[in-house]
Formats: sequence, structure tokens, C-alpha cells
Amino acid sequence: MTVLDLFSLSGRKALVTGGNRGLGKAFVRAIAEAGAEVAFIARDSAQSAVALEDFEAAGIHVTAIQADLTSDAELHRAIDEAADALGGLDILVNNAGACFHRDADEVPDSEWDTVFDLNVKAVFKSSVAAARHMTGGGSIVNIGSMSGLIVNRPQNQPAYNASKAAVHHLTKSLAQEWAPRNIRVNAVAPGYVETEMTPVHREDYLRYWVQDAPQKRFAQPEEIAPSVVFLASDASAFMTGSILVIDGGYTIW
Ligand code: NDP
Repeated sequence: MTVLDLFSLSGRKALVTGGNRGLGKAFVRAIAEAGAEVAFIARDSAQSAVALEDFEAAGIHVTAIQADLTSDAELHRAIDEAADALGGLDILVNNAGACFHRDADEVPDSEWDTVFDLNVKAVFKSSVAAARHMTGGGSIVNIGSMSGLIVNRPQNQPAYNASKAAVHHLTKSLAQEWAPRNIRVNAVAPGYVETEMTPVHREDYLRYWVQDAPQKRFAQPEEIAPSVVFLASDASAFMTGSILVIDGGYTIW
């Protein structure tokens, strides 16, 4: 047994929400490469089919499940479907999320609800539903954000910022409650990562998003994925309730 064996996810059953593009897709791939059997949830079946093709081309076999996690019924059906397909659950990565750039006095209720229903309520409900399948213990990794620690600029995104602070505190809350069940709950808090959610190439944002970061760049999803593998694995056995910041130093300043 070497130290690298502790990072292996061999024999584990993992579910990633929002795994058909962006960060979630990189998490599915990394967790599978680390040895786990993986299923992912997303709404857009066509995009999930594209992702499945990409995974297959890389020799990775995963299960795609179609569901809208803001629907209670669909969420429960999808988590049970994943546990059935995999033969149990050991790892849940709560990755699916939504963000809107909007000044506070222009945020419609519908947008606030979309953000909180997905970023907070679905994270809570998925965790409770998945934990019921983690009979031998498990690891839940929530995708928080540096927006739960600092307030981004120049764009205003009050609902998103509040939702990610909620994710971080929910992480700690569930971590202490479920430690006796041997279920660890941690979060990663990424800085800017190039995905459909985040317009990293906007000229008017560069001054704030890139120049304000000590490393003076944004990340690729593959740079966040190893930390998710770490938190999912036995390498982090004594970590629970932690928020792992991965932001190129952004929150230092
Ligand atoms: P994307 O918008 O690129 O991907 C979002 C994923 O979530 C997609 O797979 C999407 O699939 C899925 N999804 C969205 N809504 C639902 C829903 N109602 N039910 C089920 N699945 C849904 O986002 P990112 O990859 O950028 O973000 C992933 C996570 O990382 C989010 O939680 C985000 O807040 C966080 N994050 C992102 C950062 C960044 O800079 N990109 C920085 C910090 C944190 P589909 O549309 O098919 O349902």
C-alpha cells in the first residue's frame, strides 16, 4: 500500500449531478479514471448523449440519468435509479448549479427560486436521498464557490453568492450530523473556471476576473477535478466539514 493507493476510488459507486458538460463532466471523467463506477444526472438528454460519446471514446463507461433536480419527484427517482444502476452509492458530487448576473433590485422571484431550488434545496435533498444508500459510509462533495466567501465584481449576482454561502454552511451542518454514520461531507470552492456558466473571455471582466487574481488566469475544469477525487477518496479520511478553496489565489486579495 502506497500513499497513491489512498486516492484510488476502485470499487466505489459515484453519482455526479450536472455531469454532461463543464465542471461536472470533468468530475465524471476524473472519478471514473480513479476507478469508480459512475452515473451522472442532467436535464438535456442530447447533451448527455454527446458526453457519453466523449466518455466512451476515452474508454470510460458511465450511466446517464435524465432528471430536473428542481423537481422533488424527479430528484428522488434519479437518485434511486443511480443507486440501482450502480448497485449502491458511496460518493455523491453535488455539482449542478445555476447563476444569473443581475442587480439586486432587478432580480425576479423566478430567478431567485431557480438559483436556490437548484444550488441549495437540490443539494440538500440529493444529499439526504443519497445518504440513505450509503449504508457502509460515504463521501459527499459539494461544489461551492469562492462566491460563498467573497463578493464577485464587477457583476452583481446576489442570489448566487448567497446560495453558495448556504452550500458551505450546509456542508458543515451535514458533516457534523452524519459523522457517526461514517459519511463525510466536504466542499470545494473554485474561482473562475472556463465553462458555459462563466464568460471568462469578456473584455470588460478581464481587469477584475484575471488581473485581480495572483495567478492572473482562470482555470480549466480538469484543474478542479483532482481535488474532488481527493475529497471523495480515503486520502481525505480525516476531513469533514471542510471548504477547499481552489481559486488561483483570488481570495487572498
Ligand atoms: P455549467 O452551466 O457549465 O453546467 C451546469 C450543469 O448542471 C450542466 O451539466 C447542467 O445540465 C446541469 N444542470 C443545470 N440545471 C439542472 C437541473 N435543474 N437539474 C439537473 N441538472 C442541471 O456550470 P459549471 O460547470 O460552470 O458549474 C458547475 C458547478 O460549479 C456549479 O455548482 C457552479 O456554481 C460551480 N462553480 C462554477 C464556477 C465557474 O467559474 N464555472 C466557479 C465556482 C463554482 P443540463 O442543463 O443538461 O441540466
